[in-house]
Amino acid sequence: MSSNFNTKRIHNGYRPREFNYSATVPIFQNVAFDLKNTNRASQVVHGELPGAFMYSRVANPTVDVFEKRINDLDGGVGAVAVSSGMAAITYAILNVAEGGGHIIAPLDIYGAALDEFRTLFPKFGINFDFVDNINDLEKVKKLIKPDTKAIYAESVSNPITNVADVSALATLAHTNQIPLIIDNTFPTSYLFNPIKFGADIVVYSSTKGISGHGNVVSGLIVDGGNFNWTKEKFPQFFEEEITLKKSGRKEFNFAEVFGKTAFIQRLRTKYLRLMGAVLDPFAAYLDLLGLETISERIDKEVETGLKIADYLGSNQHVKRVFHSGLLNTNQKNLVKKYFPKGIGTIFSFELAGNKKNVEKLLNNVKLFTYLPNVGDNRSLIVNPSEVTHREIPEEERKKQNISDTLIRLSIGLEDVNDLIQDLSQAINKAFEE
Ligand code: PLP
Repeated sequence: MSSNFNTKRIHNGYRPREFNYSATVPIFQNVAFDLKNTNRASQVVHGELPGAFMYSRVANPTVDVFEKRINDLDGGVGAVAVSSGMAAITYAILNVAEGGGHIIAPLDIYGAALDEFRTLFPKFGINFDFVDNINDLEKVKKLIKPDTKAIYAESVSNPITNVADVSALATLAHTNQIPLIIDNTFPTSYLFNPIKFGADIVVYSSTKGISGHGNVVSGLIVDGGNFNWTKEKFPQFFEEEITLKKSGRKEFNFAEVFGKTAFIQRLRTKYLRLMGAVLDPFAAYLDLLGLETISERIDKEVETGLKIADYLGSNQHVKRVFHSGLLNTNQKNLVKKYFPKGIGTIFSFELAGNKKNVEKLLNNVKLFTYLPNVGDNRSLIVNPSEVTHREIPEEERKKQNISDTLIRLSIGLEDVNDLIQDLSQAINKAFEE
């Protein structure tokens, strides 16, 4: 197979000859697979027939193509697709820190993730320390404790577009024998490859730019395969595992049976199989369909987004534009290093007014759709403080620049002049007496 992104996104993970020469990936809308006879059944349940399927909660051929394709695009050793981005985050965190532990994350992450980290995971013995700026390495370093199990960050943050210094964070994490988990939802595999820069685990909400059409909720976890899981810190990978037990095998824990793929194999067996946030085959089909045009979509959306950001920067009613791709912040060098093709299709701006002006603007857009999603072909608009980031306490939101007058845009494939015209008329209406 080719090593070029544009070829891989269409062909990898799929061999038509194994599917009656169907040119596109078929939808396997079935629950289970004929085991044929007891001999074969024994081989399948013991994982001795690579590629054999048994039950769609654990693996399904359509979902499998999606997993393999994203894994190849990200340069991992294995991927698991799940039913949402939140499920991807949840399983990744549990698989590293189950039974208790500590994780360091920035405050400017997706609201539901922050809410989960702050209010739910502590009830499972997983506690977080949050930092204002994840690139403040001295501060992050000071927070690392003996029970720290990971550093977590978004490659491009939602909604302010802060860029994480992934290489530096990976070095810090590895020096302390902990993995780096990166949520790469905003840039997608097309604009950024966290594993290449040292990240160990990558999570996605493929609900966004990967599927790209606003028609499927889904997520993925990709394992970079380079992290050295130690028995002392991550005993779960060394526990005896009943599903790996078979005659002739002396050790049957994930670390020894799977080596480099221990993390992702365990995630499938212990989390997907037992907790069951499985991706539906039709959803995987929609993800695959969207993925086929990702490069063209994102290239155009990045270009349009920069033009709109420029326009907003010159609008008298706009106080500030948060788009690190404009190269006008102290993150300029990070953006140049990690995002030569652009940071993505999502950015925010602060209106020079009050909540009432924001409401009027939102009630007057005609082309932009007012909803809490991103990465769609349609351009989208939302007020994070009231919708996507409402879970974050006001004081903290404000520290992260998520003020009541912040508006987030996700740029789609419409004509750039029409989009500017729409924003312009809505902003004017927002300030009419
Ligand atoms: N990660 C980021 C950066 C997000 O923006 C979102 C959703 O907006 C998620 C994860 C969660 O994704 P999902 O809605 O697919 O659960």
